[in-house]
Amino acid sequence: AKDNGGDQFHIYHQDMYQRVAHRVMMESEVRQALAKGQFSLSLQPQIVAKSKQLYGFEALLRWKHPEKGMISPDDFIPILENSEHMVELGYWIIRRCFEHCQELRNLGLNEVRIAINLSAGQFIDVNLPSFLRALLAEFNLPAKCFELELTEQTLVKDIDRAIEMMNALKEIGFSFAIDDFGTGYSSLAYIKKMPVDVIKIDKSFIFGMLENHADYQIIISTIAMVKNLGLKVVAEGVETGAQLRSLAENDCDIIQGYYFSKPIPEAELFDFIKSQISD
Ligand code: C2E
Ligand code: CA
Ligand code: CA
Ligand code: CA
Repeated sequence: AKDNGGDQFHIYHQDMYQRVAHRVMMESEVRQALAKGQFSLSLQPQIVAKSKQLYGFEALLRWKHPEKGMISPDDFIPILENSEHMVELGYWIIRRCFEHCQELRNLGLNEVRIAINLSAGQFIDVNLPSFLRALLAEFNLPAKCFELELTEQTLVKDIDRAIEMMNALKEIGFSFAIDDFGTGYSSLAYIKKMPVDVIKIDKSFIFGMLENHADYQIIISTIAMVKNLGLKVVAEGVETGAQLRSLAENDCDIIQGYYFSKPIPEAELFDFIKSQISD
């Protein structure tokens, strides 16, 4: 933007200053928010497309700010990326997922899986494997209870290091999902190079899948390819019964979306499970 004249340069500069200031403010707020218990998780059910049985939950972070109200994770996680606060918050998220997994198993859901989103900073943290190992021992849970979700943003920073980390965690028994599949630049390269177990087709393809020919074709080809590679495929953002039927007919394994359930605040999880069991 620099060569568009002096004014532009000034605006560019101020914008950058504001972004840095915003990030610094966010970082200190996150620290306080953690201490004050303003974070929580919501858990969104994932359903087996054919049988409609509960497969697991994706854990989604929620921040209830005392003045600003609910802040979307999309509005603060990208800003905190690479900060040590995100690593700290990430540890909190992971521990919480272990607690929920244990609660669910205590309710008799022994096969339930929790999908955990990992940010870039968290994923290259050298302490991550030992942290996870310690939690598995503390909670006496098998690693197969957890699926770690990675996006292209998580992976591009340092691809060799990311693969090393994946191999270390796979050895412990964790599985990996590539999130937002199809939105990045090199999604296919990830499938080829990385020990991936699950592909999550991005919701932007699902929303218009029955109206938009291209989206539909992309989805069915992706499902076919992913299954031919022996991987599992999840469709997220499934909002209608018609989408669900079409995905199930085309052999999609798992569906996630508002049609079945919105993310459930953790305080309501118990009631949700009870209502499911009594159905
Ligand atoms: P994501 O990982 O792609 O998560 C799926 C998002 O789609 C969630 O938004 C979920 O609420 C929303 N969603 C699910 N089903 C539907 C549907 O049928 N229709 C529509 N319109 N939306 C649906 P949310 O919870 O706002 O999270 C946004 C993003 O923030 C996540 O996208 C993820 O990238 C990030 N995020 C959330 N929690 C965490 C976390 O614990 N750690 C990290 N690193 N990132 C997180
Ligand atoms: Ca995700
Ligand atoms: Ca996603
Ligand atoms: Ca996303």
